Amino acid sequence: MAEKQQILQDIEPLTFVGIDPKKPLVIAGPCSAESEEQVLNTARGLAKSGIKIFRAGIWKPRTKPGGFEGVGMKGLLWMQEVKKETGMLTATEVANREHVIAALDSGIDILWIGARTSANPFAMQEIADALRGHRGVTVLVKNPVNPDIELWIGAMLRLYNAGVRRIGAIHRGFSTYGDHLYRNEPQWHIPIELHRRVPNLPIICDPSHMGGKRELIGPISQQALDMGFNGLIIESHCNPDAALSDAKQQVTPESLNLIINTLVIRDTKQSTENLTLLRQHIDECDNDLLNILSRRMAISREIGQYKKEHNMQVVQAQRYSEMISDRSKQGQEMGMSAEFIETVMQAVHEESVRQQIEIINQKAL
Ligand code: PEP
Ligand code: MN
Repeated sequence: MAEKQQILQDIEPLTFVGIDPKKPLVIAGPCSAESEEQVLNTARGLAKSGIKIFRAGIWKPRTKPGGFEGVGMKGLLWMQEVKKETGMLTATEVANREHVIAALDSGIDILWIGARTSANPFAMQEIADALRGHRGVTVLVKNPVNPDIELWIGAMLRLYNAGVRRIGAIHRGFSTYGDHLYRNEPQWHIPIELHRRVPNLPIICDPSHMGGKRELIGPISQQALDMGFNGLIIESHCNPDAALSDAKQQVTPESLNLIINTLVIRDTKQSTENLTLLRQHIDECDNDLLNILSRRMAISREIGQYKKEHNMQVVQAQRYSEMISDRSKQGQEMGMSAEFIETVMQAVHEESVRQQIEIINQKAL
């Protein structure tokens, strides 16, 4: 059988003149361009901290009408000013054909596609069509708001099929219902799977939108770098408390400088002998785990048989909540978080129910 061809195979590395390709790429700037003064003050502070790529949203996709929806075209002139005065490259969000044309015409270097847009194939196709023939433009695609890796890859494929080759992904987390620690859940396994499927695709982390709070920017950034992400895009504003959008997650250029300077960039060339050994241990543990799970499922099937013979309901709510709460207490005593154990036990229980239902539905031979 012919080997499956890797998708997005010949995308180009995201290198920029004057930016060290061996260091993580850092993009910073306000959520939104608000005024010429705010844009330039922020840019000056960032340039002083050594930031080489300036971001600012000109057109803002807001959840509800009535919010600040961006300054529009005039913001592009301020971005030109940033470039002229500081020499930084500029990046902005585009969501339709008109935005693409205006951004390219005014010399924006990097376009990014927001999470609400990458979730929309019609908008993605319109943007891809507008970019046809602009092979050299850099486009960063945020993950869609919902955790759908195919939709994320699909958005990038539309650009690729239109001839764009400088493509990168931005992981900004996924929407969930209710209040959580993170504004958008990281679900790190999704970018990991993206990296497995498209190893040459640069992936940048957006700790600002993921965490939604200033104090999470540092820890999330460190985690992303430890996981081998290729860069960070961080929101920074000269007066964060007065920001017209995403005030809680923006930091001053000075704070950003501090955060970046405390990040540890791991050496990928270190001896990996001990790591190999530890990974072998992990493989053994996983093997044990799978064996135990399979034994547990065999018992579930026996229980299914019993319930079938006695015409009993598969799920007994009382037993279920007792099990989850007991295990989560036990797990906490063993040094794991209650949330983690609940997630694991819910998944195990779900599979167990599925197995029991399979037995119950089996016709007698
Ligand atoms: C942004 O980067 O300001 C933005 C709107 O982000 P997202 O699309 O990730 O919500
Ligand atoms: Mn924002």
